Amino acid sequence: MDGYEEGGSYRSFFPPSVRKRVTQKIPIFPELTTLLTGHGNIKSYLYRLGLTDNRMCPCEEEEQTVDHLIFKCKKLCNQRQEMIRQIKNTGGNWPATNETFINNYQNFFVKFVKSLELSD
Ligand SMILES: [Zn+2]
Repeated sequence: MDGYEEGGSYRSFFPPSVRKRVTQKIPIFPELTTLLTGHGNIKSYLYRLGLTDNRMCPCEEEEQTVDHLIFKCKKLCNQRQEMIRQIKNTGGNWPATNETFINNYQNFFVKFVKSLELSD
């Protein structure tokens, strides 16, 4: 279960090899695609494209990135706690690594992602 960690950090979220597998295994919906690729309705991405001049998350704590949404955003606290609880119930660790989200906790992760409201 362990040993897949990329570069010792969960910051390298979903390397391309994983992304490819993900699209084959998980029902794809816009929020999930956004979190897997970092491309979509996330402010840091829109900012990079010059589509917005505000890259802050609505929680106003920092830039809205994929990592921020999954691991830090206080607006997602409840959903995140639920996901962490489920992962720990199955004997897993938090923070989970890139690949365990997909390989071991897919249902929990998809549920978390579905609860995101990526609006502008
Ligand atoms: Zn936030």
